[in-house]
Amino acid sequence: MTTTDTTACILCSRNCGLSVEIDDNRFKKIKGDKAHPFSQGYICQKAARLEHYQNHDDRLTTPLQRQSDGSFKPVSWDEALDDIAQRLVAIRDQHGGNAFAFLGGGGQGNHLGGAYSRQLLAAMKSYFSYNSLGQEKTGDFWVNGRLFGEQTCHTTEDVEHADYVLFIGTNPFQAHGIPNARDTLKHIKKDPGRTMVVVDPRRTETAKMADIHLQLRPGTDAYLMSAMLAIIVTEGLHDRDFLAKHCRGFDQVEKALRAIPIADYAARADVPLATLEEVARGFANADSACVRIDLGIQQTLNTTLNGYLEKLLYLVTGNFGKPGGNNLHTMLLPILGDTDERNPKYRRTAHHRMFPIAGIYPPNILPDEILHQGEDRIRAVFVDSANPLVTWADTRAYEKAFASLELSVVIDVTMTETARAAHYVLPASSQFEKWEATGFNLEFPVNGFHLRHPLFLPKEGTLPEPEIYTRLLEKMGVLPERFPKLERLARLEAKRGQYLATLAALGTLLARNRQWIPHAASIVYRTIGKTLPDNAAASAPLLALTHVYAQLHYKAVKRAGHQGNRLTLGSNLFQAILKGRSGITLSEHRFTDIWSLIAHNDRRVHLAIPEMLDELAGLTASITDQAYPFVLMAGERRSYNANQIYRDPAWRKVDPHGAMRMHPEDAERLGIENGDKALCRSARDSIEVVVEVDDSVRTGMVTLPHGFGMRYKDSAPIGPELNRLTDSQHCDPLSRTPFHKHVPVQIEKSSTAGAV
Ligand code: SF4
Repeated sequence: MTTTDTTACILCSRNCGLSVEIDDNRFKKIKGDKAHPFSQGYICQKAARLEHYQNHDDRLTTPLQRQSDGSFKPVSWDEALDDIAQRLVAIRDQHGGNAFAFLGGGGQGNHLGGAYSRQLLAAMKSYFSYNSLGQEKTGDFWVNGRLFGEQTCHTTEDVEHADYVLFIGTNPFQAHGIPNARDTLKHIKKDPGRTMVVVDPRRTETAKMADIHLQLRPGTDAYLMSAMLAIIVTEGLHDRDFLAKHCRGFDQVEKALRAIPIADYAARADVPLATLEEVARGFANADSACVRIDLGIQQTLNTTLNGYLEKLLYLVTGNFGKPGGNNLHTMLLPILGDTDERNPKYRRTAHHRMFPIAGIYPPNILPDEILHQGEDRIRAVFVDSANPLVTWADTRAYEKAFASLELSVVIDVTMTETARAAHYVLPASSQFEKWEATGFNLEFPVNGFHLRHPLFLPKEGTLPEPEIYTRLLEKMGVLPERFPKLERLARLEAKRGQYLATLAALGTLLARNRQWIPHAASIVYRTIGKTLPDNAAASAPLLALTHVYAQLHYKAVKRAGHQGNRLTLGSNLFQAILKGRSGITLSEHRFTDIWSLIAHNDRRVHLAIPEMLDELAGLTASITDQAYPFVLMAGERRSYNANQIYRDPAWRKVDPHGAMRMHPEDAERLGIENGDKALCRSARDSIEVVVEVDDSVRTGMVTLPHGFGMRYKDSAPIGPELNRLTDSQHCDPLSRTPFHKHVPVQIEKSSTAGAV
């Protein structure tokens, strides 16, 4: 029998609402959910293929334990968790918290489990949390910390309402990241009063829709943006009133920008000076303008400086805190922390002495921290919803590091490459078999949240993450299994759904047992969670978060239509989330609220960042490498690549090999034809690729997509294993984010050449 239901896509940070038809425990039809408060029926082609994630032949159905010969033996959950708990406790007690690291903890759509997985770090007395944000966005978070006062201050862009939109290092047509990307791009393109500018070394799908495309030389974004800023200040186009009222430190920034050799920097970026001036003037003079950036500038040379310059573009022109500009926003799930490295309480790593940014350590240093010769090396890791042996820089370094670990545990729905290298593999229920949510709710002024309910029964033998972590903590002796008083109170209050007495009792319990404070998620899971309808126990930690959110943003939550007073609004918001099967609106802010979201005491933006001004002054490094004459932009987003959860290759309608795009002139010079195989060699390693001759790339550059290099049903890796080419040392000196968009490589026709 066919039934209909709603959920959300889990393939990118937009998490569009889905309306689905289900038959025989499978997705039969998937389309956009018109009732979703943000996506309103919009989806792209990738979501329609989610059956390839939910049902495929590599799903895990039992815990696996590695044997001495390298094979895996199925074991029971108790056997696995008993042994893991005992070994974790032994490592912690013998070597202390530095011996443990947690890796991953949520993909694009499974962040609810993060409330539970973080408890393991506390149980192990460790701070070392590594995840993919640490190889993408931490440079940006570091700059936010200095500009706005805390690394939790995160910005968004009002592309939908801007008169002038600057896309730098991003291709929203394929990468999305903005509301209903393709519709939004079409609206801008059709409107003669609005301007779209794309800055990208490739003539992307978005660039083809743009009014102006600045096809800069790869890795020169900092030159281009600083030249734009220099044009703005030398021509007096900056917003003096805004800067005087809302910012500090502009004098130092202006001095640095006036020293920029504009024509020289335009030449370095290889863009026409006149066009750059036209863009700088158009952006500064527009009634509203915003900048949208992505990995194109966050994973290339001058990563952190790039983040600073793109923010200066909208700040110096006063396009902040207004419709059509860039703005701060609120978050319900605290996916970012604030760990300014000037505060000595944040622990540095043993080998690189690296500090966390927004609570996250960078994956680029982890192999060295594991292979470090010393008592304080990392000996055990827990990997959750991540595949570092494929997706983090320097696969070879990761393979060597994992082989040296005393204990590695992987939680996943499928047998990933990292799982194959682990001591234990624990099978999780899929994202459509449990309660889940994304923390990527980054909207302003109206923000929302979508708690997804299970569509399918969990596959037999699997467990959801909240149950796995809670059982593990209990077996480690960190938590008791029962909290009878809280359970009793929660049962009494369940009918009214307010849980105020239970939360008060929880507060008292934690005040008396401070060692349990980091484990509040599992305590509410085992108590309040048991009383929630439809087995929604996993969502219990949201109750505390909605209370905090309602306190902080009381008027905005009320404006969104939620009822209640200071005491009850949080609980009512929680109930609305539980019932809102298509997602809900959390809050409606006013643009004037922006200033209260700035964390500096003076509520101003502190523009002058000494480290960034120093890097700007020293922007002279050569970016060519004679031995490796091509620049590989690794990790391109295309129509049929996605994050690693699509492992069945049958999901792709096109581009089965993840072809390498190369300009026709380069291909001709190397004697390569469309469909030929070629060797792509970096200083680290080489891989064989299939070539797609394509004039959308510049000469001297090639591109490869992410989302390949995985095995399926014991096959060889399918498509390019990008991180065999990347080197963990090739990264930003401050944030340590990798330069994936600027990998020096050689290309030659493969000796096994032949059309495919
Ligand atoms: S835009 Fe992103 S979230 Fe929306 S359907 Fe496409 S991949 Fe899924």
